[in-house]
Amino acid sequence: MSTQAAIELIGLNKWYGAFQVLKDINLRVREGERIVVCGPSGSGKSTMIRCINQLEHHQEGDVLIHGEAFGQGPARDDAIRREIGMVFQQFNLFPHLTVLENCTFALIWVKHMPKAEAEALAMSLLERVRIPEQALKYPLQLSGGQQQRVAIARALCMSPKVMLFDEPTSALDPEMISEVLDVMIELAESGMTMIVVTHEMGFARRVADRVIFMDQGEIVEEAPPAEFFTAPRYDRTQLFLSQIL
Ligand code: ADP
Ligand code: MG
Repeated sequence: MSTQAAIELIGLNKWYGAFQVLKDINLRVREGERIVVCGPSGSGKSTMIRCINQLEHHQEGDVLIHGEAFGQGPARDDAIRREIGMVFQQFNLFPHLTVLENCTFALIWVKHMPKAEAEALAMSLLERVRIPEQALKYPLQLSGGQQQRVAIARALCMSPKVMLFDEPTSALDPEMISEVLDVMIELAESGMTMIVVTHEMGFARRVADRVIFMDQGEIVEEAPPAEFFTAPRYDRTQLFLSQIL
């Protein structure tokens, strides 16, 4: 047997009513592997990564995190979910909490960590994303790029084993994209297992072990970036790349 995957999707099928949004998705992500997911709007990218932490539920197939399947009851599912950090396009910070409180909230209320310890950990992660000086501000006092770095720090506070990113730079002004990508590159180089939905192809070239192209609910093609960008095998991939590159 091969070594255990960090994330494994096996025969995943999902419908919204009569509409099949995911079609027989099979994906195995090794520990430390970096996957970039791209594809046209509506192809099911967000739905797929939301199934990985079960923010969305599927009807057929299995989702395994470090070999353990979701669906063993709420307490166990919550424990599995805590191993997975997620960063969204729209940051999803709590507007009425400071940056520091955004980062310590789950540590204190979910992990029952003493406040001083939670604050020290949060500050170390705000340093890692290079905004410790913003700790006492509120999210809306920050730029979009800074807010997204807070969201990354907040996710990292929970010591996740894998990180999911859903178009983390799509809502940012162009001049703020690189400050977020730089933090993500640093995270990738530290060995974090990551699945990143993005159309930032420079990022994909630099950090992805594999690029996955989705269309109409299917994984159409997957390849290392060098191969994916220079010699895509399928017409649908070529058409997509011609539109974004
Ligand atoms: P992507 O992230 O690739 O743009 P999504 O996963 O968001 O794609 O959506 C895939 C398809 O599923 C789209 O056609 C979208 O309209 C549909 N969809 C997404 N969420 C829902 C929902 N909650 N109910 C019904 N249809 C949905
Ligand atoms: Mg999406």
